[in-house]
Amino acid sequence: MSRGLAERDAAVVWHPYTQHGAAAPPIAVAGAHGAWLTLTDGRRVLDAVSSWWVNLHGHGHPKIVEAIRAQAASLEHVIFAGFTHEPAVHLAERLVGWARAAGAPATRAFYSDDGSTAVEVALKMAFQAAQQRGDTRRTRFIALRGAYHGDTLGAMAVGEPDGFHPLFRSLLPSVDFVPPDDLPALEALLAARPGEHAALIVEPMVQGAAGMRFHSAAWLRAAFAHCQADGLLCIADEVFTGFGRTGAMFAFEHAGVAPDLVCVSKGITGGFLPLAVTLASERVFEAFLGDDIGRAFLHGHSYTANPIACAAALASLDLFEAPEVVARRAAIVRETAAHIEALRPHPGLRGARALGTIGAVDLADAEGYGGARSVALRAAALDRGVLLRPLGGTLYAVPPYCTSSEELSHIYRVMGELAGS
Ligand code: PMP
Repeated sequence: MSRGLAERDAAVVWHPYTQHGAAAPPIAVAGAHGAWLTLTDGRRVLDAVSSWWVNLHGHGHPKIVEAIRAQAASLEHVIFAGFTHEPAVHLAERLVGWARAAGAPATRAFYSDDGSTAVEVALKMAFQAAQQRGDTRRTRFIALRGAYHGDTLGAMAVGEPDGFHPLFRSLLPSVDFVPPDDLPALEALLAARPGEHAALIVEPMVQGAAGMRFHSAAWLRAAFAHCQADGLLCIADEVFTGFGRTGAMFAFEHAGVAPDLVCVSKGITGGFLPLAVTLASERVFEAFLGDDIGRAFLHGHSYTANPIACAAALASLDLFEAPEVVARRAAIVRETAAHIEALRPHPGLRGARALGTIGAVDLADAEGYGGARSVALRAAALDRGVLLRPLGGTLYAVPPYCTSSEELSHIYRVMGELAGS
């Protein structure tokens, strides 16, 4: 990083997830193209984590750039209460269509800004729907041990209680946690607090921030069946897993479940702009109808359904469906499985797993989040030209779908080298 920029950054910027008392200066990025970042010192780095899991088709994709340019020139933004526009309606139609094809009873798209707000919206909808249906005792939520759903207060509440946010517990709504893959624990909770929960929220199949931890489709199916039979709504947080990361459009498809609410964000715009959608069933939507404004969902954000972000999302979906992208994504799924199989016997590893385009390995000498080892691992990966961001002792790759076979091989070769270091 040029000295000037480092100094200016240190004087005025407060970075996310950063201990400014100890952190090295941030790495300055001059530009990005495809799967590669170019740093201001001229180095090139493979973006193996899709820039916090948002990028789908590579950086600077010309089709998305053009869609943004064209939309900005015709309608950059307009208030979305009482007004509408073509990109928002078209995107809602396409997302509802995808969710229904995947098995969810979705009929409505509610726009917000990022993964955390998509989750806030889902939690508030579930709570208010229960209250307005007369289920006034349904004031609690069920979430999973190891969950991560975002950093705003509601999203924090349904995150792992011993995770990033324990300091804030007293501020948060009431949540009961059960371990994934433990049906008896869920049954016992439902029996102990009958009629008290508004919703169950899960990251289907993969708990991303917990370290790419997988649970079984069979458990997910049984959990949804129990909860829905008991009158809870089921929320699928597809903020990370959506848009093909697990091989299917949505991860809940692996279990054949029908979530009442689906949260999407991150990859929705191909990684260009912040945007989120909470997809709701007609049953949820109907609970808000009436003559009384107080029964409406009184929630919104200034940039709700921003037309430029919606246009980027439509261009990203076009690419997502393009035959050459479908073929490359399928190849990444096959190659990821093969790389993980090849790494499995590595003596420096405790475990290795893959689902779709996600590949993860657990180092034998694991440690907690943000420790000295993960900082050293990140630096060692960077020296080898790869951007990795270890989650504790877990190294993982979630590459953009433009990543070539050679680039993917390089990412997994570097993982193997780090495991042996
Ligand atoms: N849900 C899940 C499953 C996530 O992985 C994340 C972010 N990593 C979020 C919600 C929050 O998204 P955002 O950072 O965009 O608020």
